[in-house]
Amino acid sequence: MSSNSGIQIPSRLPLLLTHEGVLLPGSTMRISVETARNMHLVKNRLLKGTSLKSTIIGVIPNTRDPEYDTEDLPTLHRTPETKFIGTAGLAVQVVGSNWPKPHYTLLITGLCRFRVAQLLKEGPFPVAEVEQLDKLEQYTSPDEMSEAAGPDGELGELSQRFYQAAVQLVGMLDMSVPVVAKLRRLLDSLPRETLPDVLASMIHTSNKEKLQVLDAVSLEERFKKTLPLLTRQIEGLKLLQKTRKPRLDDDKRVKAFACFPAITVRERGVLPGRQFSLDEEGDDEDGDDTAVLERKVKGANMPEPALRVCLKELKRLKKMPQSMPEYALTRNYLDLMVELPWSKSTTDCLDIHAARVLLDSDHYAMEKLKRRVLEYLAVRQLKSTLKGPILCFVGPPGVGKTSVGRSIARTLGREFHRIALGGVCDQSDIRGHRRTYVGSMPGRIINGLKTVGVNNPVFLLDEVDKLGKSLQGDPASALLEVLDPEQNHSFTDHYLNVAFDLSQVLFIATANSTATIPPALLDRMEVLQVQGYTQEEKVEIAHRHLIPHQLEQHGLTPQQLQIPQDTTQDIISKYTREAGVRSLERKIGAICRAVAVKVAEGHNVTKSEAAPAERSLTRPEPREGGRGAPPDMPIVIDHIALKDILGPHVFEMEVSERLTLPGVAVGLAWTPLGGEIMFVEASRMEGEGQLTLTGQLGDVMKESAHLAMSWLRSNAKTYQLTNLVGGSDPLEGTDIHLHFPAGAVTKDGPSAGVTMVTVLASLFSGRLVRSDVAMTGEITLRGLVLPVGGIKDKVLAAHRAGVKCVIIPKRNEKDLEEIPANVRKELDFVTASNLDEVLNAAFDGGFPGMSNPLTLPHIVSKL
Ligand code: ADP
Repeated sequence: MSSNSGIQIPSRLPLLLTHEGVLLPGSTMRISVETARNMHLVKNRLLKGTSLKSTIIGVIPNTRDPEYDTEDLPTLHRTPETKFIGTAGLAVQVVGSNWPKPHYTLLITGLCRFRVAQLLKEGPFPVAEVEQLDKLEQYTSPDEMSEAAGPDGELGELSQRFYQAAVQLVGMLDMSVPVVAKLRRLLDSLPRETLPDVLASMIHTSNKEKLQVLDAVSLEERFKKTLPLLTRQIEGLKLLQKTRKPRLDDDKRVKAFACFPAITVRERGVLPGRQFSLDEEGDDEDGDDTAVLERKVKGANMPEPALRVCLKELKRLKKMPQSMPEYALTRNYLDLMVELPWSKSTTDCLDIHAARVLLDSDHYAMEKLKRRVLEYLAVRQLKSTLKGPILCFVGPPGVGKTSVGRSIARTLGREFHRIALGGVCDQSDIRGHRRTYVGSMPGRIINGLKTVGVNNPVFLLDEVDKLGKSLQGDPASALLEVLDPEQNHSFTDHYLNVAFDLSQVLFIATANSTATIPPALLDRMEVLQVQGYTQEEKVEIAHRHLIPHQLEQHGLTPQQLQIPQDTTQDIISKYTREAGVRSLERKIGAICRAVAVKVAEGHNVTKSEAAPAERSLTRPEPREGGRGAPPDMPIVIDHIALKDILGPHVFEMEVSERLTLPGVAVGLAWTPLGGEIMFVEASRMEGEGQLTLTGQLGDVMKESAHLAMSWLRSNAKTYQLTNLVGGSDPLEGTDIHLHFPAGAVTKDGPSAGVTMVTVLASLFSGRLVRSDVAMTGEITLRGLVLPVGGIKDKVLAAHRAGVKCVIIPKRNEKDLEEIPANVRKELDFVTASNLDEVLNAAFDGGFPGMSNPLTLPHIVSKL
C-alpha cells in the first residue's frame, strides 16, 4: 500500500540500525547511539542539518536477526528479496554525553513505515532509497474524521472491534489521571488505522510481537495481529483487579492502575504459568510510606536496642503531620538506620599465596612492608577474630601507602573506603552531630559504612598525623574509641544515638610522620615505615605500573606512545624531586595528554636523532574503522620531545656549582616528604661578634648553631682559623650570618650540627668544602658526633642529587643496611664519631691541611 496522497517522507533516508527495540509509527522512543556508523549519522546528519527534512531518519530494528550486529549490513544487501521494513522517524531531541564514553541519546517519534528499495551507500553511515508504506496524514479534527473514516467490509468490522477493545482497556484505568484522560480523547480523534500502532507500542508487548506489527504492512493484517495483544492485556487487567480487590479499597486500586507503566508491572503477574502475588514494589506505590518504612525497619536485621529506638521514632513519625520540619528529620534518621549494614557483611576469601601474588603484582619494591602485611594477613587467616594492633603506614607522600591499603582490601575480598582526616578538627566529624542540631548528620565512620553497605570493610584512615584540634573537641579522642578493639564493638555516633559494632571493620592508618600523631593514638597502632624510592626503583615503578596505567587512563596504547628508560630517568632527575612517585605520575600524565592531542590530530611528533633502539621501533598495524586515524609510528618521547612537553628542566643545579665559594656545605635533612639536601651558607663581615641565623630555624637548630660556633672558637688554634683582622678568635671584630635556604620552611632538629661546623670551618679557613660531600649528624660541645634519624631517606636524597660521599655519625652505621645495594655501591660513606673526622672528610686533603696529625676518617664502604 504505497502512499500517493498525504505527506511524503524524503525518498532517500539515512538508516539508523538499533537493537534497543522497535519503533512503531505514532510512538516515541529513546535510542542510545554508540556504534561508529550511528554516531556518524547523528553528527553529520542530525547535528549539521538545518531543515526539518534532515531530521527525518529511517530506524531499522536490529532485533530480527540476533546474529547480526549493528555494524553489519548484510541483510540490507539482500534488500530486494527480503522486504526490509523500518520506521521513518523524526528526531525530536539529541542529547550528547562523553561519559563514560562518547554517546548520544535520541528521542525519536515514529512517522510511517518504509521499505528499503536500494542501499545507496554504506559509509560513513548507510543511506537508502526508500518506499513509503503508510499514508501520513495531516492532523484532522474528530468531526472531519468521522466523515472520512469508516472503511467497509471486513476491515471496517475489524477496526470497529479494535476500537471497542481499546475503549474497554482505557476504561479500566483511572480517568482522573491526565494521561489516561488524554488517551481516551485520542482514541476518538486519531484515524482508526493508526490505532494498532499506537496501542501496540503502549501495552505490554515483546519486541518480537512489535516486529510482527511493524511487518504487517496491510491494515487488515495489522488489526488482526494487534487485536489479540489488546485482548490479552484486558484479560490480564481483569484478573489482576479480581485478585487485588479483597486487599485494596477502590481508591487504591484506581491509583495502582493509574498509568501504563503500572499496567506493565502488574500484568506480568497474570501471564499464564506465573503466579501473581502482591509484591513489595506494589505496596511502595500504594503511598503508605510509613508502612513501607516499618517493614524496612523490621527487615534491617538490626540489634534489639536499635530496633527499639527505630520503632519508637516510627511511632512518633506516624503521628506527625508531614509538613512539620521534624518529620523530615525523623524520616532521614530512619532512612539511615534501615540503610546501615547492621548485619550485612562480605565473606573473607583470604589465600596467602594469592595475596602475595597480588601485592607483588600491584607494587614494585617495598619488600619490608609487603612482608609485614603478609604476616598480618596470615595471622588473620589463622585467627579470624584477631584484635591486633591497627597497621599504620608512615612515609612520604606518593610511596604507595594508600594503594597498599587498597590491595589489602582486594586480597581479603572486602570493600574499601578511604576516610581523609587531614584538617579534621571537630570531633563531630568523626562522631556525628547530635540530632538536635539543624542540619545534623552522622560522622564519617557511619557515613562510610552506609556508603560501602557492609559492616566489615577496610577503612583507610588517611593522614592521621594531620588531625587538628579546636574548640569543638579533639577528633583524636573520638578516633581512639573507633580504633580501640576493647571499645569499638559499641561505637556510638551522636547522630545515631545507638551503638554500632565496628569490631569487624579492618582499620589501616597512614601518616607522613609519627611526630604529630597524638601519642594515645600512636600507642594503638603498629607503625610500618615506608621509605622513599631510589632512582632505579622509580624507573621500574614507572615502567611496570605508572606508564601502563596512565596510557590506559588517556586511551592510548603502547603502539601509540613509548617512553624509553632514559627519558624516564630524565623525568625523575630533572623534573621531579620527591621521595614518592606522585609527581612522576603527574608528569607522565602530562606527556600522555600531549601525545593524545597528536594522536587525535593524526600527527606524529617529529623525532629527533633518537637512540638507535628508538629508531628500530616497529610499525604497528594500522587499525581500520577507528575514529581518529592512528599515527603510523609510535610517538617516542626522547629528550627533545620531553623538553617540548614539560618545558625547561626544573631541577638542574649541580651540587658542585653551588660549592664554588668558601662558606657553603651540603647538609642532609629529613622532612615528612622524604629526605632533602640543603645548602647551608655562611658569610662574615666586620662587626661586633654577632651570630645571625636565618631560614626559620627552631630552637634546637639555633642551639646547634651556637654549639658549632663555640666549638670552633675553642679549637680555633688547632685548626688554624683566623678572623677578618688576623686574630685567632673567629668572632673578634666579625659578625657571622648563617643561612639555611628555603627560608619559608620552618626547620628544626639537631642533625644539621656537623654541617654548621663544616660551613663555619670553611668560612674561617677560606677553604672550599669538597663539592661531592653531604653530611648529617648532631654535635656536642666537646666535638662528639651523635646519631640522628632518617638515614635512609637522607642518603637517598644525597644520591638523587649526585653526591658521591656521605658523612654520617658512627652510631648510624647499622642503618646503612637498609639502603639498597645499588645506591650503596655508588656512594662512599664516612662514619664519624667526632668533628675532627667530619672535617677531615669534608675538605680535600683533610683539615686543617695535609700536615694534619689527626686520624684519617674511617671509610666504611665502597661496595
Ligand atoms: P600515598 O598514599 O603513599 O601518598 P599512593 O598510594 O596514593 O601514595 O600512591 C601514589 C601513586 O603511586 C599510586 O598511583 C600508586 O599506585 C603508585 N605507586 C606508589 N608506589 C608504588 C609501587 N611500589 N609500585 C607501584 N605503584 C606505586
